Amino acid sequence: MVKAVAALGEVPPYTAPVDGPSYHMTPDEFRRVGAELVDWVARYWEGVEDLPVLSQVEPGWVRDQLPPHPPQTGEAWPEILADLDRVVVPGLTHWQSPNFFAYFPANVSGPSVLGELVSAGLGVQGMSWATSPAATELETHVLDWMLDLLGLPDRFRSGGRGGGVIQDSASSATLCALLAARERAGGAQRLADLRAYASVEAHSSVEKAARIAGLRPDQFRLVGVDGSRAMDPGALAAAMDDDAAGGGVPFFVVATAGTTSTTAFDPVAALAEPCRRHGAWLHVDAAMAGSAAVCPEFRFVNTGADVADSWCLNPHKWLFTNFDCDCFWVADRGPLVAALSILPEYLRNQATESGSVVDYRDWQIPLGRRFRALKLWFVIRHYGAEGLAHHVRRHVALAGEFADWVDRHSRFELAAPTRLNLVCFRHVDGDPASRRVLDAANASGRIHLTHTRVDDRLVLRLSVGQTWTERRHVEAACDLFDALA
Ligand code: PLP
Repeated sequence: MVKAVAALGEVPPYTAPVDGPSYHMTPDEFRRVGAELVDWVARYWEGVEDLPVLSQVEPGWVRDQLPPHPPQTGEAWPEILADLDRVVVPGLTHWQSPNFFAYFPANVSGPSVLGELVSAGLGVQGMSWATSPAATELETHVLDWMLDLLGLPDRFRSGGRGGGVIQDSASSATLCALLAARERAGGAQRLADLRAYASVEAHSSVEKAARIAGLRPDQFRLVGVDGSRAMDPGALAAAMDDDAAGGGVPFFVVATAGTTSTTAFDPVAALAEPCRRHGAWLHVDAAMAGSAAVCPEFRFVNTGADVADSWCLNPHKWLFTNFDCDCFWVADRGPLVAALSILPEYLRNQATESGSVVDYRDWQIPLGRRFRALKLWFVIRHYGAEGLAHHVRRHVALAGEFADWVDRHSRFELAAPTRLNLVCFRHVDGDPASRRVLDAANASGRIHLTHTRVDDRLVLRLSVGQTWTERRHVEAACDLFDALA
């Protein structure tokens, strides 16, 4: 019986029986229901292509299907499973439909989902090496493997000064890079003087990272782009020189290898020159396009990796590994660990004190961390380098075929070069016609695609990358656009 301490006031004695009935699912029940759920997911994948890609529900519909209050007593599993079909599936936009061409993909695969299942079942917190050596060492090893798979330079390898870590997202990778850069530039004491840069085409996560790190709007500059929408190195150099002349400290530049709007590539090697002069950290956001490097013929996406301070890409976009999984490498882990390491007494352990292990809590924002390497490990071992390259190559080829179709069509035109798996196009009659086609295509339920603005004109983005997208899906998209033209 627990007696409340006086300072907290009197609370009734705790009298619940400690050895009463258990409400837990037994391992046997888990085995049975789990098998049913694996089957449910497999059937979902088999049938997803026939579902309207964009969810058709009105705001509030999902909540209206749910009881206002939680159940007092546990429910039977058949009822819970039935609600997946009744409530959840209609309220989904089907990112795993082969007719999903919106945003960038977030593709999944059997091996990755099984890895996720094992990770959840093991339920380890891999915050320190000591809290689960396998979680840490497998991650370090798989991130080294990824360098081989992608043809990225050895400077990011764990055996030297660098190393890789899995972040939840490219947004977090950019934030961590910025914090490492801030550390290298003198830490938070210098904050008021620091200046960061990215191109006007950079992902919004870069600006968010700058805000989170406490930079004022005037400390984060968006640099102009050239005709191919790549950052202009002359404009970057001028902005950095200008800031330095005014007493500022240029400390951080984000180059994008494959922008979100049009897959433009910043000239990383040329951007490195002013970075070197000013001692600024050069981070490369290759969130989407970086995965293309699994195909040796697309390794142009890695250009400049040998001079970058850090690099990230998202297997959770285009490498058949379900969200969340961002690979983030640094050439020198010192400033990153210095920026993020705090060792309270309750986390002290012999391995950490020995200095001979990696504690990934010092490489990320939160303390706790999931065993994400498992799913990436399963994916790499299932597909092999050959399988990954085969499927990425196929996506690029399908995007190329769609771009050729647009090019031949009298009512549509390409709005940017198709460098990999993203096709940017528009209606020749201008924005209202492009908008009409976009809205009608999405309302049809047959495909889902999104838009951007290029040169202040509305542009449709067709992004090929869902795991099960085949030529017939792209051809069906062509038929639909033809009918809407
Ligand atoms: N960077 C680029 C170039 C992107 O295209 C995206 C998302 O599409 C991101 C960053 C953000 O990715 P995440 O959701 O992993 O933060």
